[in-house]
Amino acid sequence: MSRKSTVVKMLPPRRPDVSIEPLVKQMLSALGEDPTREGLQRTPYRVDKALKFLTSGYDTDPAKVVNGAIYSVKYDEMVIVKDIEFFSMCEHHMLPFFGKVHVAYLARNKVIGLSKIPRLVDIFARRLQIQERLTQELADCIKDMLDPIGVGVVCEAQHFCMMMRGVEKQHSGTVTSAMLGSFRSRKATRDEFLSLIRS
Ligand code: ZN
Repeated sequence: MSRKSTVVKMLPPRRPDVSIEPLVKQMLSALGEDPTREGLQRTPYRVDKALKFLTSGYDTDPAKVVNGAIYSVKYDEMVIVKDIEFFSMCEHHMLPFFGKVHVAYLARNKVIGLSKIPRLVDIFARRLQIQERLTQELADCIKDMLDPIGVGVVCEAQHFCMMMRGVEKQHSGTVTSAMLGSFRSRKATRDEFLSLIRS
């Protein structure tokens, strides 16, 4: 497979020292607002902090977060962590999308500390994303770290850019999945995963 590893991929250099406050102020003016009125005076500061937090996944190295919590165990069954909440921002509108991710892998004598999987979800969610890529990057990351027999990731999300604007559909959800290894090649494995996340 020629897919690039997400673990070793170089991330774009970030400039957390560069303030976006002047840009936010300019944006408020362009929207017809008065950035000097009381309620908006500290808004550029708050937006700067909020956006830097919401994109902090660029600065976080998955290997550091996992921090050695990968254990050799004689175990070759399915591990599932389901209903992991996430909040991300779509790269097309910079509006939030949010929902749940279900992650499973079929171990090849290597398991990861369970609390690390939600941490990995946060790393990929706290970037400007599209749901399809978020799903795929998470699956690739787990594959790279654990060399499992297979990985399955299902992501269910709602997008503010569809709910508040555009088609304005409040209750439509988007489901994406990434199936690698046996989850892709064996229907029985995939079905087991899909039925377990629905139960
Ligand atoms: Zn969007």
